[in-house]
Amino acid sequence: MTFLTQSDAILEITPAAAVHTAQHGWRAKCLQRLVRMDLPVPTSFAISADAVRAIAAGQMPDRSRLASMIERADGLVSVRPSAANPAWGGPGTVLNVGINHDRHARLVASHGRAAADALYMGFVQSYAIHVARLDPDMFPDSEGGLEASLRAYEHETDEEFPQDPARQLAEVLRSMARAWDGPTARLLRQAKGAPAQAPLGLVVQDMALAIGPGVTGSGSIQFIDSITGIPRLTGRFRGQTQGRSKGEGAETLYLTRDPRGPSFEEAAPEVFADLVRFGVAARERLREEMQIEFVVSDSRLSIIDATRVSRSSRASVRIATALARDGIIPPEEAVMRVEPRALSDLLHHQVDPRAPRDIIARGINASPGAATGRIVFTATAAQEAEARGERSVLVRRETVPEDIRGMHAAVAVLTERGGMTSHAAVIARGIGLPCIVGASGISIDARARTLTVGGRVFHAGDELTIDGTSGEVLAGAAEMLEPALDNSFSQLLDWADQHCRIRIRANADTPEDARTARMFKAQGIGLCRTEHMFFDEERLPAMREMIFADKPEDRRLSLERLLPMQRSDFAKLFEIMAGLPVTIRLFDPPLHEFLPHDREGMRELAESLDLPLSDVTRRVEALSEFNPMLGMRGVRLGITVPEIYDMQARAIFEATVLASENGDPVVPEIMIPLVSARREVELVKNRIDAVAAAVRNESRKDFTYRLGVMVETPRAALRAGEIAEHAAFLSFGTNDLTQMTYGLSRDDAGRFMGTYVSQGVYAEDPFHILDRDGVGELVAIGTERARSHKPGITISVCGEHGGNPESIAFCLRAGVNYVSCSPFRVPVARLAAAQESILMQRESAQMTPPAQS
Ligand code: PEP
Ligand code: MG
Repeated sequence: MTFLTQSDAILEITPAAAVHTAQHGWRAKCLQRLVRMDLPVPTSFAISADAVRAIAAGQMPDRSRLASMIERADGLVSVRPSAANPAWGGPGTVLNVGINHDRHARLVASHGRAAADALYMGFVQSYAIHVARLDPDMFPDSEGGLEASLRAYEHETDEEFPQDPARQLAEVLRSMARAWDGPTARLLRQAKGAPAQAPLGLVVQDMALAIGPGVTGSGSIQFIDSITGIPRLTGRFRGQTQGRSKGEGAETLYLTRDPRGPSFEEAAPEVFADLVRFGVAARERLREEMQIEFVVSDSRLSIIDATRVSRSSRASVRIATALARDGIIPPEEAVMRVEPRALSDLLHHQVDPRAPRDIIARGINASPGAATGRIVFTATAAQEAEARGERSVLVRRETVPEDIRGMHAAVAVLTERGGMTSHAAVIARGIGLPCIVGASGISIDARARTLTVGGRVFHAGDELTIDGTSGEVLAGAAEMLEPALDNSFSQLLDWADQHCRIRIRANADTPEDARTARMFKAQGIGLCRTEHMFFDEERLPAMREMIFADKPEDRRLSLERLLPMQRSDFAKLFEIMAGLPVTIRLFDPPLHEFLPHDREGMRELAESLDLPLSDVTRRVEALSEFNPMLGMRGVRLGITVPEIYDMQARAIFEATVLASENGDPVVPEIMIPLVSARREVELVKNRIDAVAAAVRNESRKDFTYRLGVMVETPRAALRAGEIAEHAAFLSFGTNDLTQMTYGLSRDDAGRFMGTYVSQGVYAEDPFHILDRDGVGELVAIGTERARSHKPGITISVCGEHGGNPESIAFCLRAGVNYVSCSPFRVPVARLAAAQESILMQRESAQMTPPAQS
């Protein structure tokens, strides 16, 4: 065995020692920084990850080396894990390694029997459970005391409790090294992003004993509130923690002065002042908000450990920006420190993590934020509740376009079916409504107006809380945290924008969406889904009339009624976006989505159109398709029923003329959905050009427009070169592109997605995180072919992936010019894009050789 003689296998942590995070772990490195600051840190040793690996394989360090570590520690040490990243965890700390009959006897003499017994017994039990792997039930609390614990150990193992401190230490090291290799530990850390073979270092430290006379005990202190991130001194101090038990002098003190009882601050004002001073210094030197663990022995302070303060999303933003504002870290570093997803927690109410949760079901966390309301089972009931001033949660098997108004009226949505890009999910994200979809454990009886889950029955009117951030459905009302759109939030995003290499636009269908988009500083609208505008109560009849028209002339007449409404929709969007680009997608869904689906609805429609019911039913049936998502929709409708696109183009151009009169000239962007062939683009382009010419003539105003194509069929991606010839921009609609690449219905995927992901068929839900290998390859191929035909063409992504951090990183590297996502995801996208831009910049700086002087 060679490594045991290498001097770096076990290193004393001194200011100059070669301690490296990758080899010795974050805890060892952090302790070295504290040592360099001259803080009273007990003597500590770092055992390298290579050494720990060897220990796990049975190659133990030299006995005399272990013995000497314990001897110089006056017989007692602690062992703590030290992974490269604190989030990866590690085996639990073991205290008081080295205690045996002799050391116990000395402790009895110096500190009394009760303290000595408690210390010894604590170690015997922890050794028995973690090292000898005995059943914890054999050691019920402190029953029977030290003697009983030693007897139980000897009875079970047929040997005396090990008295050789070096052997104790060797066995503790071995058990910790092996625990790190166990499958549970591996899975847990992999879930936190650790590589499967993540290294583990260990730290052996002299025990600072929290027993003895005077102010003695152990505690922790931090300077920030973990939930709010607001500066606040918090912590705890427990007197005599390693010795006497309650009633024998053990006392929990408030850390700071408190009217409710005695405090550590009052009991030991000088030690407290030192502690605060050390904490402030540690924040500056470690460039982080730290929680400091300390021991006080007869008013003598030891700093035994420091860990990064655990923090909520909102606290992470405040902490990072405060560190940068105080000049402790550069703003770029603050941008890198906040998890982009954390920002979406700040935009909405959140269930207070400290509050109890009565979880009744789980589903896909389709739109973040939390809200409490009374159960309603129909969109109409949601609207009625809103009219009464009541908050409602809309519970549906799945939502359909007709439910949109109900969704606007509800405070949250829960569906039994669906996935990340199903109707409910897309709309909810768009309007910032907490939403859970695909909660397959629930059962809805719309007639009886009940929701049954796990044997519990909830009725219409009962209260539910939807936590769209975690995907948990809670019974009753939960305690909430308010949104936190404060200065730290906007400051962080302003810093982020300075680094961002791509633009971030918003998918916005209504003036309200557009205002939200501007509030979050979106750089334009990348997708306005115009069909949503037709579900309005006033417009639906005209729309239905148009669908029922047999002749083009009749159709044109109905469309003429819709024209002014569309014109004013677009004019409002242009006005709100004040010169920023606005991309309007022409009509996309199958027409039958606008028709009633039940008998009652058809009867009402027959009445309003003054037609026999049989005509209406026949027409609805004629429009129904086996596979509507692959049927008469998008550009196919635009070519077969061209009057719809004509009307929309006219509305866009007339709005352009209007808006340009009042402000800067508007250059609208018109986008054709579901293209799969170049000829489709040519046909639509010819008609739109003709409408533009007509509007120019009539208004005697000149304007230009940009025509774009949505790439959302695999064929369009493959033929992007020729398609690009007629387009000023291409926008990847990755929702449909994913659906068509996988042959996977976006509305039904939720049913089996959980099984598929848990069994590793898909690494992730591809509607949630862009599938780089398949769909991503189509994006890359499409981009490359389009640019080779037309180098200056603008490329974007406007599917839901445009708001997903991992997918944004991919898009940025694939060379897209912008991504477009729901308005409430814009802040997340800004931060994610900035972080990836910074990473790319750092990579290229590493590759560029320094300039020759
Ligand atoms: C898409 O398919 O990615 C897209 C943006 O369009 P929609 O979600 O409206 O089908
Ligand atoms: Mg689409």
